[in-house]
Parts: sequence; C-alpha cells; structure tokens
Amino acid sequence: MTSDCLFCGIIAGQIPATKVYEDDLTLAFRDIHPAAPVHDLVIPKAHHTDMASLVAADPPLASAVLAASAEVARIEGIADAGYRMVVNTGKDGGQTVFHAHVHVIGGGKVVGLPG
Ligand code: 5GP
Ligand code: ZN
Repeated sequence: MTSDCLFCGIIAGQIPATKVYEDDLTLAFRDIHPAAPVHDLVIPKAHHTDMASLVAADPPLASAVLAASAEVARIEGIADAGYRMVVNTGKDGGQTVFHAHVHVIGGGKVVGLPG
C-alpha cells in the first residue's frame, strides 16, 4: 500500500471501483473513462510503479497479471472475438497512474490506439 496511490486506494477499498475479477495477487475493475465497450484495468495488489518495474522485481507476479487479464477477457465475453492488452509505460508512453496495470480493451471499435 502506497498512501498516495490511486490504485492502492482501490485495493484498500477506500476508492470505489466496479470489480470484475479478483484473486490473491491481482484485482481487475472497470476503467472510469472507457475507450471501448469493454475497458478494464488489471493490477497487482502489490504496488509497483509500472509493468517494467514489476517484471524486473517479481516475474511470477507479472505473469499473474497477464493471466488475470486473459481471464478478465473471458469473463467479459470478448476472448473469442479478440481484444487488446495495452501497457502504457512512463510519461511518453501515456501512463498517468503509476501503479502497474494492463488495460483489457475490446467489445467493439477501439478508439485512439495503433493498428
Ligand atoms: P494509464 O494512462 O496510466 O495507462 O491508465 C490509467 C487509467 O486509469 C486511465 O484509463 C483512466 O481512465 C483510469 N482511471 C483514472 N482514475 C480512475 C479511477 O478513479 N477509477 C477507475 N476505475 N479508473 C481510473
Ligand atoms: Zn499503488
């Protein structure tokens, strides 16, 4: 728990979020500004600044976040149609919340991303 971190606040239950999936290591919830019909965020419960820092510090936890992301796509019903996992890293990567996360985006047209 990092006291000034938004996503740590969601994990702690101090900030409301619509949860989609949870296990011992990870939490998934809906993005507050969805870029597509399905747009969820998948985070480790332990605080790491970004996915690069996470995989360097704890590769099994990074793997757990990716596995949870695939499970979220299945739960949301977009696994067969296809979806994107997006990882913004650092300022030029468009990262705005500095707690590692994967965006799971799909369910229709995805706006504003390459491809
Ligand atoms: P980033 O830009 O860091 O890759 O992604 C951060 C994401 O967090 C953004 O898509 C943004 O919409 C989302 N977000 C920011 N504040 C909140 C919040 O309070 N609740 C939820 N559910 N999502 C948030
Ligand atoms: Zn945090």
